[in-house]
Amino acid sequence: MNLETPLIIPVFIPHRGCPHQCIFCNQISITGMGAEVTGPEKINQQVKNFLGYKRKNRKNVQIAFYGGNFLGLSESTIGSLLDEAAGFVKRGAVNSIRFSTRPDTIDKARLDLITDFPVSTIELGVQSMNDRVLVDSNRGHSARDTEKAVRCLKERGYDIGLQMMVGLPGDDGSESLTTAYRIASLSPDFVRIYPTVVLAGSPLAVKYKNGDYRPLGLEKCVALVRDIYNIFKKNNIKVARMGLQDSEDLADSSVVLAGPYHPAFGHLVYSRIFFDMASAWLKEEKQAGHNVIIRVHPRNISRMRGMKNSNVRALKKAFEINRLHVLPDKNLPEDKLMIERAV
Ligand code: SF4
Repeated sequence: MNLETPLIIPVFIPHRGCPHQCIFCNQISITGMGAEVTGPEKINQQVKNFLGYKRKNRKNVQIAFYGGNFLGLSESTIGSLLDEAAGFVKRGAVNSIRFSTRPDTIDKARLDLITDFPVSTIELGVQSMNDRVLVDSNRGHSARDTEKAVRCLKERGYDIGLQMMVGLPGDDGSESLTTAYRIASLSPDFVRIYPTVVLAGSPLAVKYKNGDYRPLGLEKCVALVRDIYNIFKKNNIKVARMGLQDSEDLADSSVVLAGPYHPAFGHLVYSRIFFDMASAWLKEEKQAGHNVIIRVHPRNISRMRGMKNSNVRALKKAFEINRLHVLPDKNLPEDKLMIERAV
């Protein structure tokens, strides 16, 4: 497995290859694209545009088919899309191909179809490992399908990404935690965690308007995703994303009708994690009126401070700190902090 975070060249195939409509989904909103058909010409143009932005030292570049059910496309479409993408790999401009697909589209015949193409990574939309939640979300597959799919992908040596959602209908949070444990036991290479939001035009929007669905509040969702992140971290599984990809469409309240959407959702979760780490230390050392220095890796300064300094304010108040400084220390690992008293 190549551990460098790849430059992803996304090619969206919204809703294509989907056998039905999942309750929460409206890919047209998520991808900001109409239901236009993505063909070889479009891929060509998209890849060339992205390669123009490529940093010279970036080694790993992948073309990624997202937003639909890749292995649910017709054989000829799968072949023509992969052919076009593979051309870039052959010419050395791109390293490999990845796509996302449903667990129930993974079988021997479908995997045989792609075996001669340079596909390295396959992401599965797992969403939940609770069969009742999957039914309530109209997913049309079971937790066993996911387990079977992961086994098949492992046998063929693909890098595996598993996507899960929190706040689905019928999930009060405990199902999400169980899902995280069950996903962790499958040992994927990475995971993505998405909050459920109510998208206009989705079946969930109808349920929401009828009062039959209440989304998670932002605070509760951040706390839940923090707990899930900690489960994956303990199991050494990389969390590649928390929260939906920010876009102008999703910032529009006529697109996201309700739910815990935030353009920097992942940042909120990391801020919460750093807040917890600092609190745990300060709890032991509480002493009114003291001054404190917290050192973190430079990349984590804003995570430690929290949105608009919210962590700094909350820590000062909770632990009666007089002055609190957050300072960078590039020698610290990214998931650690150091706290010391200051005079
Ligand atoms: S969630 Fe995936 S499988 Fe379900 S409708 Fe949306 S794109 Fe299709």
